[in-house]
Amino acid sequence: MTSPLSLKHCRPGPTKRSSPPGAGAQAVILPAVQREPLVDGHGRSIGDVRISVTDRCNFRCQYCMPAEGLKWLERSSVLDFEEITRVVGLLASIGVGDVRLTGGEPLVRKDFPKLAGMLAQLPGVEDLSVTTNGFLLGRDAAALVAAGVNRFNVSIDSLQQDKFYELTRRDALPQVLEGLHTLAAFPEAHPIKINAVAIRGFTEDEIPAFVDFAREFPFEVRFIEFMPLDADHAWEPEKVLSGAEILAAINAIHPLEEQPREPSATAKVYNFADGKGKIGLINPVSEPFCSDCNRIRLTAEGKLRTCLFSLHETDLREPLRSGASDDELIQIVRDAVWRKELKHHVGEPGFIQPARTMSAIGG
Ligand code: SF4
Repeated sequence: MTSPLSLKHCRPGPTKRSSPPGAGAQAVILPAVQREPLVDGHGRSIGDVRISVTDRCNFRCQYCMPAEGLKWLERSSVLDFEEITRVVGLLASIGVGDVRLTGGEPLVRKDFPKLAGMLAQLPGVEDLSVTTNGFLLGRDAAALVAAGVNRFNVSIDSLQQDKFYELTRRDALPQVLEGLHTLAAFPEAHPIKINAVAIRGFTEDEIPAFVDFAREFPFEVRFIEFMPLDADHAWEPEKVLSGAEILAAINAIHPLEEQPREPSATAKVYNFADGKGKIGLINPVSEPFCSDCNRIRLTAEGKLRTCLFSLHETDLREPLRSGASDDELIQIVRDAVWRKELKHHVGEPGFIQPARTMSAIGG
C-alpha cells in the first residue's frame, strides 16, 4: 500500500504569481487609485490583511472550539463577495497588498475560489494566500491555483492518524494528506507551508516525523506556539511548548542553520545544515514579534481587528451597507489603525484573553 506520506512525484519549483488569472470570475475592478500608505500610531507600515471569509469550520480542533462547535453567524451578517472585494481593493490602494484568506475554514464557504479570483484581479494585491485545514484541498486546489492564489498554509498538527483525530475530532488525516498531494503538483502553489500548533504533552513525539516530512517533501514545516485564543479558555502558559525547546529537539536530530529574518515576518526560518528542507518557528508567546507588525484583520462579519489579541474592533459592515464613500471607509480604517496596539500582553499580569476565538478571527 502506498504510504499516505509518499509524495515522491511532486517536486515542482516555486514560481512568482504572473498575471491575474480567473477568466471566469466576475470581479469588481476598482481604479488603481494610489493613496497615502497605511501606517499605525507607532510608525509601522501596514501591508498585510488577514480576511476571515467565514466563521464556520468542518473541524473541531481542541485548541480552537468545543466539540459541539459554536453558534455560527447568520448568513446575512457575513460580508458578501462584493463587500469583501471592495474592502480589499481599498486596502490595496493604501498599500495593504498582502492578502491572506482564512476562516474558520475558508474552503467551506460556497464558491470560495470565485472570491479568490475576484481578489486576485484587484490592482495593488501583490500576494494572495490561503490558510486551510486541507480537508477540501483535493476538491479545490486546481480552482484556487487557477484563481490566482499563490501561497498556501495547511494546518496539520499531527502526522499520526489517531492523534490527528484526537486533536481535531475528525478522522481526516489521509484526506488532508491527499489534498496536500494534489496541491503540491501545481508549481504555482509553492511555497506550501505546514502549520503545526505546538502543545506541551502532545507535540513532542511529533517532531521527528515532521522533521522527516520537511526533509523529504517540498513543504516548510512551521511549529506555532499555542496561543490563548481557544473557546474553552483552557490555555495555560505551562501548555506552551516553546520554539526554543523545539529548536533544541530538532538540532539534536538534524542541525539547523537560522536564516535572516524577513521584515515583519512571524516565523524564524531555518535550513537544515545538509540542505534538505526548511523549518519555521513561530513564537508569539516566548519571543513576540510585535515590534514590526504590519498586520490587520477583517472578520467574516466585517469587524476590523488591529491585533490578533485586540479587545476592541471597528465595524466596517454598517458603513459599507449604508452607502459610505471610499474615502469615508478609508478614513475609518486609518483612524482604527492609528490606535493599533503596540504589542500583545500574553503572559503578563492583567492579560485579558479576547472574547473572540481563533475560529472567528482566522489567525
Ligand atoms: S500580537 Fe498583535 S501586534 Fe503582535 S504581532 Fe500579532 S497582531 Fe501584531
